[in-house]
Amino acid sequence: MISLPESIRVFERGWLSSNNVLLIDAERVALVDTGYATHAPQTLALLQQTLGARPLDLIVNTHLHSDHCGGNALLQATWPCRTAIPVAEADAVSAWDEARLTFRPTGQHCDRFGFTGTIAPGMHLTLGALDWEVLGAPGHDPHSLMLYCAEHGILISADALWENGFGVIFPELEGESGFAEQQAVLEAIARLDVRLVIPGHGAPFTNVAAALERAFSRIAWLRADPLRNAKNALKVLIVFKLLDVREMRFDTLLQLVDDASVMRAAASMLAPRGEWPALLRAMVSELAAKNGPLEVDGERVLARL
Ligand SMILES: [Zn+2]
Repeated sequence: MISLPESIRVFERGWLSSNNVLLIDAERVALVDTGYATHAPQTLALLQQTLGARPLDLIVNTHLHSDHCGGNALLQATWPCRTAIPVAEADAVSAWDEARLTFRPTGQHCDRFGFTGTIAPGMHLTLGALDWEVLGAPGHDPHSLMLYCAEHGILISADALWENGFGVIFPELEGESGFAEQQAVLEAIARLDVRLVIPGHGAPFTNVAAALERAFSRIAWLRADPLRNAKNALKVLIVFKLLDVREMRFDTLLQLVDDASVMRAAASMLAPRGEWPALLRAMVSELAAKNGPLEVDGERVLARL
C-alpha cells in the first residue's frame, strides 16, 4: 500500500463537494479545489481546524465546476490568499460570465471570486515541497487540468479519473467533441507511472490499472450510444440539485430543466419537450428505486438522507 507523503492531506467530501487536497510546506499552504458553495463554511472549518493560526496562502482550481470552486469566495474573504485558475477560464472569471462559467447552465450556484494567476498544461508548481506538472484533461470539461507528481507517482485527477469512472462528458451534450478527448486523457494517464490517484470525488486509490480498465470500458460504452451520456448527465444534475436543496416539486424540477441550458440540452437529446414530464418522472423513479439517492412523495422529490 502506497501512502501519501506527509505534506499532503486529503479531505474526502460527499458528492456535492469535490475533495479538497491540502499541501503544506515551509513556504506556503496550498489547497487544490474548494468544494460547493453551500459547504463552504464546512470547508473553512476543516482548514481552520488543521491549520490553526497558519493562513491559507494559495488556492489552485483544477477546473471551475461549482463543486470544485464553490469555496473560493469564502476562503478568499477569510485569508488574503492567491488563487490560480485554468488559463482558459481567465476571461470568463474576470467578467464573471455565469453562462460561460457553467454555473447557470447546470442550474448550480457559485459565489463570485477573483484570481491572481493562471495555470496551463506544461507548467510546474511546487506544492507541499513536491514538484507537480500541470496536465491538460479535456473530456469532462474542456479546460480541466490535473496535477502529476512524478517523484511519488501521484496524480490529482479531478473528474478525469475516479476509482469507478469519471465525470459527465459535458461537451458532447452541446454538440462538441468530448469522448475522443476523454479517451486520450485516459491513454495519457496510462502512459505515466501513476501509483496513487487523488480523485475529485471518492477516496484516494492505488489500483490504478483496474480503475483505468473500468474507465476505458465506460468511455467505449458511452461512445457507442451518446444517449447514455445524456441520460447520465441529466440524472447526475438532478441528484446534485436535490443534494443541495433537499426537496423540490416536480413542476419546479421541470422548470429547472427548461431554464438550465445543459439540462435542457441533455433532455432534448432524450425526448421532445412535450414528453419531458414523463421523462423526468421515469428518471426520478429510477433514482428512487433500490434505495437510490432520491425519494418520491406525491408531487415532491426529495434527497434520501
Ligand atoms: Zn467537474
